[in-house]
Amino acid sequence: MPEFDRHVLETLREPLEAGRITISRAALQADFPAACQLIAAMNPCPCGWRGDPGGRCRCTPEIAARYLRKLSGPLLDRIDIQIEIPALTSAELSARSSATGEASAAIAQRVAAARERQLQRQGKTNRELSGREVDDVCRPDAAGETLLREAGERFGWSARAYYRVLKVARTIADLAGAAMPSVAQVGEAIQYRRAFGSL
Ligand SMILES: [Zn+2]
Repeated sequence: MPEFDRHVLETLREPLEAGRITISRAALQADFPAACQLIAAMNPCPCGWRGDPGGRCRCTPEIAARYLRKLSGPLLDRIDIQIEIPALTSAELSARSSATGEASAAIAQRVAAARERQLQRQGKTNRELSGREVDDVCRPDAAGETLLREAGERFGWSARAYYRVLKVARTIADLAGAAMPSVAQVGEAIQYRRAFGSL
């Protein structure tokens, strides 16, 4: 993702927030639907080896920092799930190839059921909920509420980040068929916003 020009990356903010994009050329301006699901990947530094125990990264801290700065705070704020995926050792890779995970068809069924639950409850997906609607339908249990408030203060979240974490927690609860997000589900949603804290 950071290989794109910073200006190009910043134009993603509007569709990620509003699901629309406005294109202006000379005297003309046009509004296009642009509700999308953004899935993006990046390396931790330009050479890709930052954090490797073998010390293979040749980037100076300044070069690595400049690379990460290509992604602005406001852009990251609009990306709901951010996870770091460490490289696997060859032993871990070969153990994985023989592992039996859950079949994709079973997961797809669970996703469809969670989506249906959202449409039944509120007539739209969790992603489309406004701030007030989030307060109504995403409210976690008491322990979850406390955890969320503490995490928001500790990590200095914006209001936008706070509401986005709540929506993710609500979605995790929907996948589990739960009436309201539990403290564990809120904790899971918080974890999905922590990748850039450790880089
Ligand atoms: Zn590097």
